[in-house]
Amino acid sequence: MPQIIDGKKISQQIKDELKAEVQELAAEGRRACLAVVQVGTDPASTVYVNNKKKACAYIGIESRSFELPEETAEEELVSLVERLNQDPEVNGILVQLPLPAHIDEDRIIRTISPDKDVDGFHPVSVGRLWIGEKGFLSCTPAGIIQLLKRSGISVEGKRCVVVGRSNIVGKPMAALLLRENGTVTIAHSRTKNLKEITRQAEILIVAVGKEKFITREYVGEGAAVIDVGMHRDAQNHLCGDVDYADVESVASAITPVPGGVGPMTIAMLMNNCVETIRTREDRS
Ligand code: NAP
Repeated sequence: MPQIIDGKKISQQIKDELKAEVQELAAEGRRACLAVVQVGTDPASTVYVNNKKKACAYIGIESRSFELPEETAEEELVSLVERLNQDPEVNGILVQLPLPAHIDEDRIIRTISPDKDVDGFHPVSVGRLWIGEKGFLSCTPAGIIQLLKRSGISVEGKRCVVVGRSNIVGKPMAALLLRENGTVTIAHSRTKNLKEITRQAEILIVAVGKEKFITREYVGEGAAVIDVGMHRDAQNHLCGDVDYADVESVASAITPVPGGVGPMTIAMLMNNCVETIRTREDRS
């Protein structure tokens, strides 16, 4: 039986550590405030936004909601973000994605000040990650590094394969594994002989966005398998990009879906919010 990596438990540990740290920082007069901006009423986005606000309340971070109608003009959203950039009481800005189709998401991401970019999506944050400078890390990949570390799985010197090259998961994941001294390969839809490549992995990270895509033929004996995917199968059960039942007999460690990578994203968002007050003195 493989080690089952318990993201629910690890994310709770992280949130409890952050809660204690936030109390200490508050005693020094340092308080964090996250601005949470949602445009429209997409039900999935509303669930994510509410979960983020709940996590803020648990940890002791103030959250301020900005709920804008679906038809909000791009310029209006840019003005709001610019105002929040200037507001000394707001430390972090989160604009829930996806935005309605008439708004240029990249422009909004670039408008957020890199000093308040708690999602880690701004090109400055991405650049800092690749050149090894301190900065906000993209939350899902940062959460995966925590899952590995806190499960006793070292990345150093290991052959790591990331399947997927999106800006929010695959690319920052590869950069973080490299930072941890892994030997990293990034695979994508044009990769040839994918199975041969993934079978070489000692650590296999799957962010392909296809239900149960990775079966046992893709996995080398004893690999640690991290599943980023999130889907509902024909029976309406949550499942990942990895066929868990098929892969569990070959893997040495594996994340379940749900309860693996999913809960880590919010925990690392909270960590980024706390980071805004940890480093505030350094910046001033
Ligand atoms: P995405 O933007 O759709 O990217 C998918 C990547 O997989 C692309 O780079 C694509 O390659 C690659 N790919 C597609 N088909 C492939 C194939 N047959 N062989 C090899 N590579 C293939 O997805 P994403 O945003 O990274 O998300 C991936 C999954 O993670 C989704 O299921 C998403 O719901 C989930 N997710 C979960 C969390 C969480 O908190 N748990 C956070 C974010 C995402 P090309 O670049 O060549 O097209």
